[in-house]
Amino acid sequence: MMESRETIIERAEEAVLHTYNRYPLVLDRGEGVYLYDTDGKQYLDFAAGIAVQALGYHYPGYDEALKDQIDKLLHTSNLYYNLPVMEAAQKLVKASGMSRVFFTNSGTEAVEGAIKTARKYAWLKDGKTDHEIIAMNHSFHGRSMGALAVTGNEAYQAPFRPLIGGIRFADFNDLDSVRAQINDRTCGIILETVQGEGGIYPASEEFLKGVRALCEEHDILLILDEIQCGMGRTGSMFAWQEYGVMPNVMTCAKALGSGVPVGAFVLDEKTAGASLAPGDHGTTYGGNPFVCAAVSRVFDLFEENNLVEHVREVGAYLEQRLDELVKSFEFLEERRGKGLMQGLALQGRDAGEIVAKAQEQGLLVITAGGNVLRLVPPLVIEKAHVDEMIEKLTAAF
Ligand SMILES: *Cc1c(COP(=O)(O)O)cnc(C)c1O
Repeated sequence: MMESRETIIERAEEAVLHTYNRYPLVLDRGEGVYLYDTDGKQYLDFAAGIAVQALGYHYPGYDEALKDQIDKLLHTSNLYYNLPVMEAAQKLVKASGMSRVFFTNSGTEAVEGAIKTARKYAWLKDGKTDHEIIAMNHSFHGRSMGALAVTGNEAYQAPFRPLIGGIRFADFNDLDSVRAQINDRTCGIILETVQGEGGIYPASEEFLKGVRALCEEHDILLILDEIQCGMGRTGSMFAWQEYGVMPNVMTCAKALGSGVPVGAFVLDEKTAGASLAPGDHGTTYGGNPFVCAAVSRVFDLFEENNLVEHVREVGAYLEQRLDELVKSFEFLEERRGKGLMQGLALQGRDAGEIVAKAQEQGLLVITAGGNVLRLVPPLVIEKAHVDEMIEKLTAAF
């Protein structure tokens, strides 16, 4: 017999370091776009493990790829070649139109790799070691020391200083503020194409094109963090593809493996040929055959099932339904987002409290910075699931 929810939570708190204030929910299994807790209660999942479970749970064809790979080979290290890593890398290159991939175990590691790439690129040009990176206020890039250094959040940074040096901050969607931080030491500009954690703010076209042009002008690398907004979530495979720009470095993670821990940083042709070289970077696990078998199958399933097209269709419907909600509830200030990455900004009601109320109704949603309700469902949801979410969220309100 399974232990009670209370006992499991109590025992978890005795053994797991308390770095999260967790909701009192013990999740047990998933099916489609629903999760079930240990008491058998069903939840419609509009959180997707923080934008990870793009395919939901047990999507046809996904589990089989993992099971087959378990039976063959889990891990080899990066000292040798293997088939899944080659296939996963080729598919990521094809989907992005970029040139070379380095697989990591997480998003924060992908950001570390991107930072090292920018530093090495500049070092090869002038041999100096004082290069700077420009990052955005209210950004989120991860919790390791380099990624934290470019994360524009005082509360996250304060106890851990000194972080890596040479980071300057500018305002998102304010080109002049970026321009003001550029000098002859600048080697990279990092930003999320759609800010996630910071409150769901898409980059304006003018801003992103302007930053791209500044990077050209000064031979600076543009690093776009697509860890949350990438992999089809906004209605194109990568969010920057809608803007007609290409980064020099892109970071991926979250939905890349749709449930297995994997990330990547991807370089364009120019950067791949003039940055990291043998000996400069490495990882024991990163991109092992197991996770790459998942990545490879994820790309196949996206293509076979036209998932990006599906996101555009369901995303438009989600936007329409959320806009109706904003009209009917005074405390809903505005909707922001693209496709299946949406935020509802609240005023006078606490987002965390509504998340808890939604759980009572059998709906999982999460929060984002600045009192925002964040909706990042599996990309495979149907319009009927949007209707069900609206009904449950309305009850929670
Ligand atoms: C989640 C996230 C990260 C960090 O990824 P981890 O896998 O948690 O290290 C970095 N950047 C963005 C935009 C994210 O949403």
